[in-house]
Amino acid sequence: MNFHVLTLFPEMIEQGVNTSITGRAIQNNLISVNAINIRDFAGNKYGQVDDYPYGGGAGMVMQPGPVYRSYESVVEKIGYAPRVLYMTPQGKVFNQGMAEEFAKEKDIVFLCGHYEGIDERVLEMIVTDNVSIGDYVLTGGELPSMVMIDAISRLVPGVLNNEVSAEFESFNDNLLEYPQYTRPAKFMEKDVPPILLSGDHGKVDRWRRNQSILRTMERRPDLMEKAKLDKEDLKFIRTMEK
Ligand code: SAM
Repeated sequence: MNFHVLTLFPEMIEQGVNTSITGRAIQNNLISVNAINIRDFAGNKYGQVDDYPYGGGAGMVMQPGPVYRSYESVVEKIGYAPRVLYMTPQGKVFNQGMAEEFAKEKDIVFLCGHYEGIDERVLEMIVTDNVSIGDYVLTGGELPSMVMIDAISRLVPGVLNNEVSAEFESFNDNLLEYPQYTRPAKFMEKDVPPILLSGDHGKVDRWRRNQSILRTMERRPDLMEKAKLDKEDLKFIRTMEK
């Protein structure tokens, strides 16, 4: 899977993705992250890419030409018009379901704004999805694009060492993950829940599922409406309500 990031700060992207699991995935050619400097497409010798907003007001706006030309360079390279995600606080808030949807694409372009944002005309021309990482305003789209690259790439087959580890995570079935424990079995008078040492996989699975349900009810009750629950889950919830 290939991520193409249109940005004024390519070094931020390069430094951000080249370590840990995404770094290893790049080395193993499972993903590629291509940071494209919009300034290289400025079209003037000063490298100017922004200007004052028409109609007045504070700040600067990124001009349409350099953004369009940097996008065109990607289309020329890959030979088709890919999905273009504009990082914007005005977009749909990114979630695991969207990460799963985007992970099906072969190429994705991330468009990172800065200053007051980008001239609306070029956004109308190239953007397929407006995506936000939350209801707050950041200085640029670089961190949001790295957040999304991280979440999407770990769904690409082979990126995680243990294929199953993405399978039982938070947000699967719209439930949060159960609590995790490792050695030692006793830590400062606190024991690991004995069932996890029982060797009874059926019971362990049931306990974990119940913990997931409890945790979601406590921490993210909003998710419970959409949670995929089976008969056993509902039975457990009924016992909790008694
Ligand atoms: N004036 C814009 C507005 O009110 O919608 C905000 C511009 S913000 C200072 C500069 C850039 O940061 C945006 O163009 C966008 O690319 C990025 N950005 C800021 N907050 C974001 C968020 N919550 N999610 C995704 N991108 C964000």
